Amino acid sequence: MNFILLINGTYIVAAVLFIYGLKLLTSPVTARRGNLLSAVGMFLAVVVTLLNEEIIDYRWMLIGIAIGGIIGGLFARLVQMTQMPEMVALFNGSGGLASLLVGWGAYHVMPLAGLFVMTTVFLAVLIGGVTFSGSLIAWGKLSERIPGRPMLFRGQTLLNGVLVIVILIGGSLFLSAPETSYPIFLGIILLSLVLGVMVVIPIGGADMPVVISLLNSYSGIAACAAGLAITNNILIVAGAFVGASGIILTNVMCKAMNRSLYNVLFGGFGAVTKGAAAEVGGEVKAISAQDTYYILEAASAVAFVPGYGLAVSQAQHVLKELGDLLEERGIEVSYAIHPVAGRMPGHMNVLLAEADVPYEKLIEMEQINRRIANIDVCVIIGANDIVNPAAREDTNSSIYGMPIIEVDRSKTVIVLKRSMAPGFAGIDNSLFYKENSRMLFGDAKGSIGEIVAEFKNV
Ligand code: NDP
Repeated sequence: MNFILLINGTYIVAAVLFIYGLKLLTSPVTARRGNLLSAVGMFLAVVVTLLNEEIIDYRWMLIGIAIGGIIGGLFARLVQMTQMPEMVALFNGSGGLASLLVGWGAYHVMPLAGLFVMTTVFLAVLIGGVTFSGSLIAWGKLSERIPGRPMLFRGQTLLNGVLVIVILIGGSLFLSAPETSYPIFLGIILLSLVLGVMVVIPIGGADMPVVISLLNSYSGIAACAAGLAITNNILIVAGAFVGASGIILTNVMCKAMNRSLYNVLFGGFGAVTKGAAAEVGGEVKAISAQDTYYILEAASAVAFVPGYGLAVSQAQHVLKELGDLLEERGIEVSYAIHPVAGRMPGHMNVLLAEADVPYEKLIEMEQINRRIANIDVCVIIGANDIVNPAAREDTNSSIYGMPIIEVDRSKTVIVLKRSMAPGFAGIDNSLFYKENSRMLFGDAKGSIGEIVAEFKNV
């Protein structure tokens, strides 16, 4: 009795640490502390669960923790910042697989449990399976191991609908006689894995951020179902947090891209256009680092607009140095942040925080757009889709309607990138040909380094 009290008491402490940790995660200033507090909560939850030898021999759990810890530690050290989205996809997939295995194990341990428990077992393997295989596909697309574009074919939605119906029929047969329906149960696991693949292959292009956050939410819901199956309170609580926060993030991402969730899931990015996208062309005006220095030096207000290229070139530290040099000369500097810049939610915030850029200098898209006409120079650092005017001007463009940072409305635009190559969405960018645009070709870190050198040489 006392032991159960100890376990549940510790779970409550862990849950409070999760909630407080989540609250601290809402600001970059307190985010590290929030992460640490949540990790302490999880550690406490694991330790008291280990004490309960009725679940499984704690030695097995220690072996699991050691293996998982080594793999996690290695990944944390070896994975590049630009590979984080793929890593998150794998995390989501692991969460889904774990829930599937917990549900599967629960079936073997208590095949005669009542309808409620078996329903949660069914949900844990179904949602866990979809999350696992769907996340592997998302990982493949993000890491370019498989084509990132949407894979669409005739009758796809119908086939997915049939799959869901077959799984639901299988589920009701299984629930009517769980102890004798093991083959059906195995069939449900198999079909849930197929469904995960089927629901993610039609999604691609710039819609991937939504998929990642949606799969994150699924992994939480699967964990919640697994927690209910084995009556583990902390798993239920933690799963509910992940499920709810994932769905909130999904909503934020959809709004940021002006896409409905239905459209993301069934539309196929770029597949539903009314006609050919407008031809993009004109004169490209290249600029040198020295001339960029002259333009910046004469400005009163400068906005840096970072994108994926900032992460690739790791230019955040030298960018901060340039920002400081401009401020020393009395120039107003801001960093404009698009919600889907980079390859994961908050990607730019993390990079700039790493370089100690003060948080109040990070300006959200709506805010910067309101005053962009008064900005003398917008410096685009490895961003492309998030500043593409086609989103506003070309109704046939696959990104039409997506809110962008409207840098073309500022007085001068300087784009730092290596070539004329398109960004993640794979479409041309008319910004590069605008009258007020100049292209500073080269790796962003190198180019900014050269501008910094110009400032230091005077
Ligand atoms: P983009 O992918 O549109 O463009 C990045 C640009 O960076 C490229 O055009 C590339 O041009 C340039 N670049 C790459 N490496 C370097 C380098 N070393 N130095 C200088 N430039 C470099 O990025 P954005 O941030 O503008 O937009 C993000 C896109 O990713 C959106 O389409 C979004 O939907 C999608 N996405 C976002 C996710 C998120 O959660 N944030 C997740 C998944 C996808 P070049 O090769 O010529 O140098």
